[in-house]
Amino acid sequence: MNRFIDLATPGVRELRPYTPGKPVEELERELGIADSIKLASNENPLGPSPAALTAMADLAPKLALYPDATGFDLRRTLARRHQIAPDAITLGNGSNDVLVLLAQAFLGPGSRAVYSQYCFAVYPIAVQSVSAKGVSVPALPATADMHLGHDLAAMADAIDQDTRVVFVANPNNPTGTWVEPARLRDWIAGLPEQVIVVVDEAYHEYTGWEQTAADWLGEFPNLVVTRTFSKAYGLAGLRVGYALSDPAVADLLNRVRQPFNVNMLALAAADAAVGDEAFIQRSREVNRSGMQQLRQGLQALDVDLVPSLGNFVLADFAQPAMPIYDALLREGLIVRPVGGYGLPHHLRITIGTETQNQRLLSALKKILGHPG
Ligand SMILES: *Cc1c(COP(=O)(O)O)cnc(C)c1O
Repeated sequence: MNRFIDLATPGVRELRPYTPGKPVEELERELGIADSIKLASNENPLGPSPAALTAMADLAPKLALYPDATGFDLRRTLARRHQIAPDAITLGNGSNDVLVLLAQAFLGPGSRAVYSQYCFAVYPIAVQSVSAKGVSVPALPATADMHLGHDLAAMADAIDQDTRVVFVANPNNPTGTWVEPARLRDWIAGLPEQVIVVVDEAYHEYTGWEQTAADWLGEFPNLVVTRTFSKAYGLAGLRVGYALSDPAVADLLNRVRQPFNVNMLALAAADAAVGDEAFIQRSREVNRSGMQQLRQGLQALDVDLVPSLGNFVLADFAQPAMPIYDALLREGLIVRPVGGYGLPHHLRITIGTETQNQRLLSALKKILGHPG
């Protein structure tokens, strides 16, 4: 028992911290092995965008200075890219930070936020940290056509007078499921205007979609779209993401944002990475072929996959997955258990390079006892 628990706010008292993927260094320390691979946190197996690396190298001598608190250059670059005003952009220390800003600005004791079962774990944490009530709406069933995706109709029904925010990740993590943009747009149009609708597009670069929810910002002033440099741009370690919204929403987010929440290296790296279209394209291609490789390989091992548009797959082992997770660790492979999400038979596996995927498949074949 924590001796200071009674001093904490009601939300914090019941908070369960986020469980991150196991770092490679930790596994190697524990097992005394080398050469392990992490396919646990949906990081880009190609590493960072090279343009980002170059941009950062020049900045080392300037690190005694605070970064630009307004992120002027990066916001200008993003504004051009999204054809939007710079004051519609809120920068975050990862998009995680932006999700927390949304909770701080719009939620508190007595208000509610709606999200789906199997949603990204940060939503309930952000909501609870400000002592608001999180409403988890049961996901669609695990049938062949529904696959644990968001039940948008039920989510709309769960919105009441006290609801201030609704979260939809498209595609979603950890399921990889998605809502077709046209359907999502219709759904948003039917929601009350006084509810902030957060569409989390952390995996958008992998979808290949022409449309993004950001296209509808003019139509829906209550819409907030979040993006990150952690996934396709390969900059998870730098922590930079952003929100696109009506400037009035951005104004509120910026009131609670720490002035120097995005560091100098991150600002410069992200600014350079935005224009590195070749890198994004290569990331998408490696992901596409890796997805196919894993899909075929896992199918051969009788492991079912939830269809995914992200850079990861959710594999259903139809048996408790922790022994498989542990056996993979001993083979130097870190994937992500999702028992904490209520999916004890599944593991989430990030799509790696061809070599990494092959190593995973070979290890699974050995562990699951498939001959040949
Ligand atoms: C990875 C991820 C994020 C991004 O987190 P960052 O804080 O930007 O690294 C946001 N939303 C979802 C659904 C994710 O999977």
